[in-house]
Amino acid sequence: MDSLKMRDCPGCGCAKVVMEGSLMGWPLQRCTSCRLVTVSNPPDEAQLQDIYNKVYVRGGLYQSHLKELEEIRALGTSRQGFYRNQVFLKRFRPAKGDRLLEVGCGVGAFLVAARNEGWLAEGVDLSEEALQASASVHGVPVHHGTLDTVNLTHGTYAALVCWEVMEHLVQPGRFLARARTLLLPGGLFICSVPNEGSKVPRYVEKLGAASVPPIHLNFFDCQSLTRLFELNGFIPVSVAPQKSLWSMAGRSDHMVRWFFDQCLALVGMTEGPKLFAVARSKSGDV
Ligand SMILES: [Zn+2]
Repeated sequence: MDSLKMRDCPGCGCAKVVMEGSLMGWPLQRCTSCRLVTVSNPPDEAQLQDIYNKVYVRGGLYQSHLKELEEIRALGTSRQGFYRNQVFLKRFRPAKGDRLLEVGCGVGAFLVAARNEGWLAEGVDLSEEALQASASVHGVPVHHGTLDTVNLTHGTYAALVCWEVMEHLVQPGRFLARARTLLLPGGLFICSVPNEGSKVPRYVEKLGAASVPPIHLNFFDCQSLTRLFELNGFIPVSVAPQKSLWSMAGRSDHMVRWFFDQCLALVGMTEGPKLFAVARSKSGDV
């Protein structure tokens, strides 16, 4: 493939990109400046919409959303997202009146958990299910669209969260810049993304092709995600992998977990498959 088909880095905007092989037939490029690995020729908006519609139904996501909704109806909360709920909501407590925005909120399981902890929570999502859930099941406001298209007030939110969203974006740098305009100065940006630094295979046949292009377009490790924050107006607070696959499940069975971690370390798998990151919005111009 010739170099003309590469694009400027969507993390930092520079043109210093080199080929980085391919995945499932999609050519990848690496930025030599910020190190972000990304798909060189992502599908356009209409193609992506079509791809997502198919994956959403066929990939079982729709079924898992229905299950979440049933739990919220029955229990007023949801067990889904245990790790993110525990890690974020136990670590960051809202002051009175603090507003939180979740981008890619789905049917709102995290929004409900955040509201239960005292946040004034709102969501953004493209799906109709999200709107229907907010209208009829839990009443947490959800804006229909993307961060680019929704009409939200600048400098409003104390926290903006997005779980497993940044790996899907054609322009992750632009997304962060937009997020920053919505946050209060010093506001928190919190996300999780798949960890490219983990040795966990990208493609597991049984789980389907959801973690490869064209569903995932960006491949982060600690270094490139940290750099992405720095280059787009944020001060990284922590960017860290889950310690292992096992700890992801939130098990408290320490001896078993320790043994499992040792086994994984023997085959070079010392980092879990997700990165959890926290960054603060810088005040003033970048
Ligand atoms: Zn770059």
